[in-house]
Amino acid sequence: MPVLADAGLRRWLEEAAPSLDDGSADPAAPLLRLAEAGLFALGVPREEGGAGGTVGEAVEAIAAVSEHSMAAGFLFWSQRTFIEYLLQSPNAALRRRLLPDLLAGRVAGATGLSNAMKFLSGLEELQVAARAEGAELRLSGRLPWVTNLQPAGFHVAAAVALPGSQPFVAALPHDLPGLARSADLDLIGMRATATAAIALQEAPIGPEHLLHDQAARWLPQVRPAFLGLQCGMSIGLARRALAEAAGQGGPAREVLRAPLEVLGERLAEQERALREGLRAGAFHARAAGLFRIRIALAGIVAEAMQLELQASGGRAYLSPQGRGFARRWREAAFVPVITPSLTQLKASLAAEALRTGRAA
Ligand SMILES: Cc1cc2nc3c(=O)[nH]c(=O)nc-3n(C[C@H](O)[C@H](O)[C@H](O)COP(=O)(O)OP(=O)(O)OC[C@H]3O[C@@H](n4cnc5c(N)ncnc54)[C@H](O)[C@@H]3O)c2cc1C
Repeated sequence: MPVLADAGLRRWLEEAAPSLDDGSADPAAPLLRLAEAGLFALGVPREEGGAGGTVGEAVEAIAAVSEHSMAAGFLFWSQRTFIEYLLQSPNAALRRRLLPDLLAGRVAGATGLSNAMKFLSGLEELQVAARAEGAELRLSGRLPWVTNLQPAGFHVAAAVALPGSQPFVAALPHDLPGLARSADLDLIGMRATATAAIALQEAPIGPEHLLHDQAARWLPQVRPAFLGLQCGMSIGLARRALAEAAGQGGPAREVLRAPLEVLGERLAEQERALREGLRAGAFHARAAGLFRIRIALAGIVAEAMQLELQASGGRAYLSPQGRGFARRWREAAFVPVITPSLTQLKASLAAEALRTGRAA
């Protein structure tokens, strides 16, 4: 059975895709539709209110949604990744308090952990810092890019430096005193994704906000799900571009048949490696395997977009005929820059190769 068994949802996503891209849609709408279809519950244990199964099922669902709209796939990724943070947090009270509304799409989960992932790879300093004020901590700093900051309500995960102690990770509610959300950023595509910046000034938090008290230990633990779910977006976009290319009946059909087949096989191979690695828990100890899959998938997306363009020819450059292609082209431009970006991943692999003496 296809993951998106609900034909009504597939149709809705297809119709909403242009307005999610140009920003005229309400970014809260996909959250409610995806929640209604039970998609946020995939891979969430039944005892936590989910549908059970594995995180691989959530990856597959993000891929299926991204085939129609990567903006919707990206909102899905944000929500489901935040849910994963709660599932992997020792703070059971926080999990019990937040999960029901997140699973129902009533409140948004946002992940401001790009900076933390870069910090983990030694690429950047943490941009949020805490200072103690009695029993409380006060946070100041900035998260320059965060998606799914739904105006109606959100929780955002951030890693925080604590002088004299270890960095930690907290979930900050939208109405925390001292937390300010900017206006939506002026993006070139995927505009209805509630993407904005967060500024923190002396924002007070306590233990009830804590996701984990040791960022350096916890981030590698959540990274396979963070990255694996992210790969779902590339898989969906590549599948759609390949399907569009294969569906063209023009004169390029014969010439492109073989490259399309080869690229389809390469995509299936990476999907298999991702599925099996996630199932076996192989990426906790060896993140490099997952980094290579993410890099390979980004390459496949770029090639698939080229094949869609070549198969369509000039029609891809005409409006309205080429609108779907133009949207996917913009969506594809996001793939190399999502944290961890391709250059960061390559830098991490090169650093590991230097350390271990093995080729990157
Ligand atoms: C639409 C959109 C939505 C986003 N949503 C979120 C979100 O929800 N949460 C979130 O946390 N972030 C989000 N981001 C941020 C994003 O994932 C990246 O963190 C951000 O784009 C990276 O910053 P930069 O490209 O400005 O990098 P810069 O630091 O300006 O670097 C420029 C380029 O060099 C690379 N680079 C930088 N340092 C190194 C290094 N040491 N080694 C190798 N390469 C390096 C960068 O990856 C980038 O390719 C979003 C970005 C966009 C465009």
